[in-house]
Amino acid sequence: MLTLKLPDGSSRQVPSGTRPRDVAESIGKRLAQAAVAAKVNGTVLDLDRELTSDLAPNGELPFRLLTEKDKEALDVLRHSCAHIMARAVLRLFPGAQLAFGPATEHGFYYDIDSPTPIKEEDFPRIEEEMRKIVKEAEPFERFERPTAEGRALCEDMAQQYKVEHIDDELKKYPTLSFYRQGEFIDLCRGPHLPHAGKVGAFKLLNIAGAYWKNDSTRKQLQRLYATAFFSQKDLDAYLTLVEEAKKRDHRVLGKQLKLFTISPLVGSGLILWMPKGAIVRGILEGFIKDELLKRGYQPVYTPHIGRLELYRTSGHFPYYRDAQFPPMYGRPAAGALDMCQYRLSLGPLDEKREHDVVTYMKSVHFTPPEYTAAKTQDEKLEVTHKYVLRLLDVMQVDLPEYHKAKDYKERADALLKWLMDQEGFLLKPMNCPHHIHIYKAEPHSYRDLPVRLAEFGTVYRYEQTGELNGMTRVRGFTQDDAHLFVTPEQVEAEMGSNLDLVLFILDSLGLKNYRVRVGLRDPNSNKYVGSDEDWQSAEATLIKIVKERGMNYTAEEGEAAFYGPKIDFVVSDCIGREWQLGTVQLDYNLPKRFQLEYTGKDNHPHRPVMIHRAPFGSMERFCGILIEHFAGAFPLWLGPEQARVLPISERFTDYGRKVEAELKSHGFRVAGDYRPEKIGAKIREAQLEKIPYMLVVGEKEAAAGTVAVRGRVDGDLGAMPVSQLVARLEKEVRERTIRQVSTATAGLTEGGAKYAE
Ligand SMILES: [Zn+2]
Ligand SMILES: [Zn+2]
Repeated sequence: MLTLKLPDGSSRQVPSGTRPRDVAESIGKRLAQAAVAAKVNGTVLDLDRELTSDLAPNGELPFRLLTEKDKEALDVLRHSCAHIMARAVLRLFPGAQLAFGPATEHGFYYDIDSPTPIKEEDFPRIEEEMRKIVKEAEPFERFERPTAEGRALCEDMAQQYKVEHIDDELKKYPTLSFYRQGEFIDLCRGPHLPHAGKVGAFKLLNIAGAYWKNDSTRKQLQRLYATAFFSQKDLDAYLTLVEEAKKRDHRVLGKQLKLFTISPLVGSGLILWMPKGAIVRGILEGFIKDELLKRGYQPVYTPHIGRLELYRTSGHFPYYRDAQFPPMYGRPAAGALDMCQYRLSLGPLDEKREHDVVTYMKSVHFTPPEYTAAKTQDEKLEVTHKYVLRLLDVMQVDLPEYHKAKDYKERADALLKWLMDQEGFLLKPMNCPHHIHIYKAEPHSYRDLPVRLAEFGTVYRYEQTGELNGMTRVRGFTQDDAHLFVTPEQVEAEMGSNLDLVLFILDSLGLKNYRVRVGLRDPNSNKYVGSDEDWQSAEATLIKIVKERGMNYTAEEGEAAFYGPKIDFVVSDCIGREWQLGTVQLDYNLPKRFQLEYTGKDNHPHRPVMIHRAPFGSMERFCGILIEHFAGAFPLWLGPEQARVLPISERFTDYGRKVEAELKSHGFRVAGDYRPEKIGAKIREAQLEKIPYMLVVGEKEAAAGTVAVRGRVDGDLGAMPVSQLVARLEKEVRERTIRQVSTATAGLTEGGAKYAE
């Protein structure tokens, strides 16, 4: 017998072999109809999967039926729809071979290798075939085969990628599971919908190239992207959102509005701020800086690089090595030996980690000869060692300790010792170690604390090229960073005022919809540093702070940094998309590593606590998000060009220039369009450039000393004296008013509706 623990807290005894479908039926017919899958002890299972005692090692089995309302159910639907799409493709493209077809955040894809390449023009007939399959509503039936038999089955079906996958990764399992739907059979772990009829609506979206197993040395396949929902209404809402998001794409708007550019010659993922983008960033930085000064922060500046020793002390190197630019050594031999040292120090790796490390080695073009061909982990460590011997010889490095070393550990240590004597630098991955040394530059008493050091500090990450995305995923970025050094008693007040600051700034930008995530320790893990008492009090403090502020929060176990709990901000933009912004983190670890101190009331040395915070994460990412949030139409106080003077004809150029000069003397960012173009064309252009105010001048205005004002949001505001316009603009800038034009997009709450004054 098994004991199921239901969500309402009740328990239910069922015999082993019971299916979730049986449980649903025993509860009620409606539920059995609505059920899509079941979540059993954390794993999502088919409704027809038999429950057995090996699912419940300690006797009790947490059990929940999933219906349309559950996010997990949507994933099941989407993956099932991937089977349906693959089935349709196999019918229409004979000889097509299937790779992987998982659900993704917004839909699903299937990687396919078809003798006749699939084109977007083929989408309608693939969709037509899929509709037939959905209408037939055949069940997804699971069956298992011993691995050798399963492999033979894939060979019979001429699915060579599946065979390869079994050889690569699945051989170690005694059996393989398959799902059959009509004539279509797919090697798959599941789970799936009970039958295809549950798919309410789907749509094929686009095709992209994708390497088999995402490995650029392997064959390129076609990745068919699609999405699916339980209802047509949900699909329509999603497609509208995608359309709206496309219009707001910061990569497109950034180019069109000349805010930023990226040049392959400068380097991918490295943002070049164009003059207009630089204005927006400069104003934001000034705004934040002013707030920080008011709140007792002290600005500092630090360089873009630091010695490797610094990051070895902080733990950033080599801990985050795969995500960093390679270190810079003066001596060429050191760079190569450093890579070998890194590989040796890691020792034997599991499959996933090995894959990550190889990807990294490839990205920096350093793989020891014969490394890829080496089969076992021991062999890989051995070829690395052999390579070290060659390098030592060729580079004429005399290292007797290395030759004496007996295993990979001793070898790694011997190399490290030598490397530590070499002058080496790293592009700054984080600002903390630099700020710590500013704190350390003078003695501190409890009276000086909190010390709050702030910097727009630029840091570098070696993101994979495929991961880069406009301003939101880059290789160099400037954090709105600060580090606070506080006494344990000050933690609560300082964390609290940090949250208040973040909220104030978000509010000023119209980002009023947010939630916070409190990242706690995973109670079952020992990867965290620091005492239990520190952790308990820190976690309790964070929860207390967010509760006191009435914040909408979720506490998530396992989401803490290894040195302390943290608070993440997740902000919704005006089309409801969520963006994770920066974090506020409590840290007991770095103060220990760097032996930070202050003198307490008792005249004894005490250890401060550190708070790391970068509310926006980075200026690049945040500005990218703002471009999308405002759809490029920045509010007046942030706009690169706040007003444009538009003379009706060349006869009024002189008067136009006078108006322009007058506004400039009041500090506004104004330009004039004095080209001999029709006024209509000039207005259209200014609108496309999202200029907040257009100032039309002609005969009447020149005579009366006025301007005819057209606002981007309000339209025609009539003629007014320049002094009145100045007063209006000054008020709008001072109050940082946010006004947005409502878009015609149906079903979406646009910023204008929410934020209009
Ligand atoms: Zn499947
Ligand atoms: Zn930090």
